[in-house]
Amino acid sequence: MHRRSQTRLRPPIRFGHPDKCWTIWRIGGEVGEIASRLYEQPARDYTISTGRIKTFGGKDGIDVFRRDCYKRSNFIHRKDVVYKVVQPRYEETSIRHLSATTVSIRKHSSTHCRYIFPRPHFPSKMVNIPKTQTAATVPKLGGGVVFVHDYPVPQPGHNEVLAKVLYSGVCQSDLHTQAGIAASAQGTPITNVKLPHVGGHEGIGRIIALGPGVDEDIKVGTFVGIRFASRICRRCNFCLAGKEQHCIKSTNHLHHEDGSFQEYIALDAGYLTLLPDDIDPVTTGPVLCAGLTTYKAVKNCNVSAGNSVVVVGAGGGLGHLAVQYALAQGAIVYAVDGGGEKGEFLKSLGVTGYVDFTTTPNLIDKIHEITNGGADAVIVTAANPKAFAQAAEMLAVGGTLSCVGIPAERGYLETPISTIVIKGLHITGNLVGSLKECLEAVDLVRRGIVKPKVTVRPFEDLPKIYEELERGDVLGRIVLKIAKDE
Ligand SMILES: [Zn+2]
Ligand SMILES: [Zn+2]
Repeated sequence: MHRRSQTRLRPPIRFGHPDKCWTIWRIGGEVGEIASRLYEQPARDYTISTGRIKTFGGKDGIDVFRRDCYKRSNFIHRKDVVYKVVQPRYEETSIRHLSATTVSIRKHSSTHCRYIFPRPHFPSKMVNIPKTQTAATVPKLGGGVVFVHDYPVPQPGHNEVLAKVLYSGVCQSDLHTQAGIAASAQGTPITNVKLPHVGGHEGIGRIIALGPGVDEDIKVGTFVGIRFASRICRRCNFCLAGKEQHCIKSTNHLHHEDGSFQEYIALDAGYLTLLPDDIDPVTTGPVLCAGLTTYKAVKNCNVSAGNSVVVVGAGGGLGHLAVQYALAQGAIVYAVDGGGEKGEFLKSLGVTGYVDFTTTPNLIDKIHEITNGGADAVIVTAANPKAFAQAAEMLAVGGTLSCVGIPAERGYLETPISTIVIKGLHITGNLVGSLKECLEAVDLVRRGIVKPKVTVRPFEDLPKIYEELERGDVLGRIVLKIAKDE
């Protein structure tokens, strides 16, 4: 099928410096990622070539367009979209349709650069990267959230990708950090935070552009997670041990870099949380912090089928996921939280018993009674120090206390040392988890074994959501709708 050259062209879209830019003429449909990919290449050094080449990565056959682009114009056709690639100073003379998923760009030196556009990810609309965006900024810790609509969109640097943020969960750490009361490893407030602070570390985005030097395995259109950890060194003992969340040179999206409470984010392509195509972007966000943390907390307890696990704060964002990850391990789970609504919800998840702390005079006695002598593991997900104080006393001999929530204040465990020694108790702490563990936690959600309970709210509700989190009356996790997926 051929179109005539007199096809009416829409205005061209130009990328890059005028001397070395590709002009992409839009004939039908919208200009997609081809435009954004080509823009990185200096046009003078390349010709576009065509021809049929081998099947790539199990996908359909790939057509490559062979034509000297110094004399003729080039068109790439996909479905109802025709892309025409021309250099500004040469006249277009013909139009050709191709079902191309790959454009091969050859340097005059005959070095090949190959660009693969995988079918499932091919965006149907133009990848429009604006200069500014909406971001929920915190100019001063404790000063509240200010929505800014002209916040700069980051440019992806070397080995970075630019992602559009679609959804983001709201974590207790976001609340504490913006308020300037998040506790450090020493129990003192963390105040050394990049300002303006942009929180969010449970984000799901879609890659929309690649910076220079990004590995060709990384595709535009792929879902990507915006997690707590942003960059790691890959060389320290913790990185080498697969505990890179403790990397001595790490940076994170809470204290050092802007997080997912903005529409666009640049991410290190060397430490990307690449997610499968079939995840649900709405429910997967909370897995990246709350889910991962509780998945790891359950793992730390060495729970096996039939063990009893008590989750304290079970109805919250972390808690309801801890319940489900423990159930997925075959544990018998008892939930502690307050109120009838949370009780009903937790019973629907499959807990064996629900203990309402608002109506139970002695929690420790109650747990010993229903677990017949104490729990094999207690996971405390509440961020209130009172929830931790006597939690270890709920344990059976040899049991494990897994601390997950981080109270804002300098909270303490108040378990007698004699109890810990005589009963041979274990106490573990937990800071998120590794990327591998994150992907394991995501997979259980993707398969429907663990189901995050989420409520989607508009981006501008963030200040209200912080108030609700502070009051502690949030069931499951709140997820913000950030930017439109195009
Ligand atoms: Zn978090
Ligand atoms: Zn490291």
